[in-house]
Amino acid sequence: MLLQKLREEVLEANLELVRRNLVLYTFGNASGISREDGLVVIKPSGVPYEQMKPEHLVVTDLTGKIVEGTLRPSSDLPTHLLLYNEFSEIGGVAHTHSEYATAWAQARKPIPCFGTTHADYFHGPVPVTSELTDEEIAGEYEKNTGHAIVRSLRQTNPSASPGVLVANHGPFAWGEDASAAAHHAVILEALARMAYFTLGINAAVQPAASALRDKHYLRKHGKDAYYGQKKNQ
Ligand SMILES: [Zn+2]
Repeated sequence: MLLQKLREEVLEANLELVRRNLVLYTFGNASGISREDGLVVIKPSGVPYEQMKPEHLVVTDLTGKIVEGTLRPSSDLPTHLLLYNEFSEIGGVAHTHSEYATAWAQARKPIPCFGTTHADYFHGPVPVTSELTDEEIAGEYEKNTGHAIVRSLRQTNPSASPGVLVANHGPFAWGEDASAAAHHAVILEALARMAYFTLGINAAVQPAASALRDKHYLRKHGKDAYYGQKKNQ
């Protein structure tokens, strides 16, 4: 079987979304890529999580051709592929319909940065995509969803915004691997929830000062990052 380790990582990322209560029934999917092989491993469509084994995952190339697997891949595969093709630095993608992030997506509102939890991960608000046109919905819908995500990141880069809200749909998140993508999906849901409560307590609240936002983002991600442990130690 191809890519045994990646299959296990991607299965684990999918199960993490379930453990963190981000997934209703079989909504949601995570994938990972081996850049070396140019192959993507993704959750199969509609298989209950309790029964999912590494061998059920589907391996495709970057055009979506199935290389190994008997089950159909997640129907969101074209969105994942578009993100892998556009952003060479990402190694994993996760998508859920988690409640608070989806509520923001349905309201078509970017999530403002109200505090340091948000600023540790996103350098600015969590963007929301524009709505798809009727033609985009009738055409290659999942691929066009990917294009909408890419357009929403025009002002920033995928590392400074490890997730976005797809208008009227829900969150997509990514990271250096499938586990990081799932982690970012979990964080995004927490940020969405906190922002909702923050506005409930004070509807006139303004985003946190940009000095604080920069401090928290850049101490973890900037070229002079000093948070956590150095890599390669
Ligand atoms: Zn969806």
